[in-house]
Amino acid sequence: MAEPKVSLKRYQKRRDFKASPEPSGTTKRVPKKTKQPIFVIHKHAASHLHYDFRIEVDGVLTSWAVPKGFSHNPAEKHLAVPTDDHPYDYAKFEGVIPKGNYGAGTVMVWDRGTYKNLKDHSMAQCVKNGRIEVFLRGKKLLGGYALIRTTLGKGNQWLVLKMNDEYASRTTKSFPDENKSAKTGRTMDEITSDEIDTDGCVVQLSNQDKILFPDAKITKGDVIAYYTKIAPTMLPYMKDRAVTMHRFPDGITKEGFYQKDKSDYFPNWIKHVLIPKEGGKSDYVVCNDTATLVYLANQACITPHLWLSRLDKLDYPDRMIFDLDPGSKTDFAAVKKAGLLLHKILEDLGLTSFVMTTGSRGLHIVVPLDRKTPFDDVRDCARKIAEQLVAKDPEHYTLEARLAKRCGRLYIDVSRNAFAQTTVAPYSIRARSGAPVATPLEWGELKKKSLQAQSFTIKNVFARLKKVGDPWKKINRSMQSLKKSHKMMQLLKT
Ligand code: MN
Repeated sequence: MAEPKVSLKRYQKRRDFKASPEPSGTTKRVPKKTKQPIFVIHKHAASHLHYDFRIEVDGVLTSWAVPKGFSHNPAEKHLAVPTDDHPYDYAKFEGVIPKGNYGAGTVMVWDRGTYKNLKDHSMAQCVKNGRIEVFLRGKKLLGGYALIRTTLGKGNQWLVLKMNDEYASRTTKSFPDENKSAKTGRTMDEITSDEIDTDGCVVQLSNQDKILFPDAKITKGDVIAYYTKIAPTMLPYMKDRAVTMHRFPDGITKEGFYQKDKSDYFPNWIKHVLIPKEGGKSDYVVCNDTATLVYLANQACITPHLWLSRLDKLDYPDRMIFDLDPGSKTDFAAVKKAGLLLHKILEDLGLTSFVMTTGSRGLHIVVPLDRKTPFDDVRDCARKIAEQLVAKDPEHYTLEARLAKRCGRLYIDVSRNAFAQTTVAPYSIRARSGAPVATPLEWGELKKKSLQAQSFTIKNVFARLKKVGDPWKKINRSMQSLKKSHKMMQLLKT
């Protein structure tokens, strides 16, 4: 099927795909022959609430609107009115069709699964004949269902009913998770509130009162407010980089998870990019604007992590990073001391560097690069530099990755200098008590006794910015060549 089906022309004609998040159906998508055909039932809160029953027939979704939905009871015959064929991709669509568009309103994947044709004819022939009998294997529906064209009433009307089989029931009972999406578990209200207006003017956010940091009673609303306010300072560091999300939907005392691929239900105005990985691709979010940052916060993404290279030159990082991670025998004073020693080593090599607290336990030291050296060479350079630091105090510093072999020493981690590796974004919140923030510093601040890795939090970081400004403001204009540093080249030869 090189061209989209003729039957999709009407579907496409009725829709403006710049204004609606629905799939255009112009991309070729032929389901595998070996796979069982699929069905989906959308719950659709358009001008009238109804269900849309769609079954796969020759690569498209033949569809009916069923105002009263489905039943377990063979005695209940519900009206089904044929509607436009929909593209195969529509089966996974869930979201909100904006006002002013065809079918405007919230759409839920109410049920989905596979079906078996119980008739001897092909499914296309059954549709033509006006008599369909299928065994549905969904999350909610199970068993035989029939769709029959009637001669009663006006126009093309069908009836849908449960067939008499062991799955039928004469009593009125509800379906499992009747009010929840079979795809995301969300209710209609949750789907609606998860959508933010495309231009970011009206930000519709959900569960703002939910407490994400129980100790300090910090809510999701507080996290959203923080990211809204910090966005102008933070976004230049995120621009055109793939983001890995560290999400905590149930707060920081429950286990969070790292998410590389954007969720299917993310609205289509969220910028995203496919990046090849072993055995496939990852579909990363790119956060270039406040609306996206706020949307991620609404998804309880407490900490965005960033690639060290930018999208247009993925193999050539513009950041070389040293992660100073204290061991059991090091306090933060020792981390600060190591940071200052590393700063001096970098200075002697002719390299400008920047430092931030991670908001967790350690420090990140970053050298901005001119994107002319590939990851492997950058990592080699970083290791050579780190070796110089370790040589100054091997009793307290180590390059040993294995925890057991570190013996409590401070670990100089250069392993992040690699393709697809990420580090916490500057000014991101960490999932620690009190919501500490990864905070860019002036080098001189490392000499302050009072400075701790978690000194700055969402509560005091704005006061700090007002007082000292953003110490990393110039980082994007300080790109340097590793190859031009004569001393660096000498060091690599050793
Ligand atoms: Mn509909």
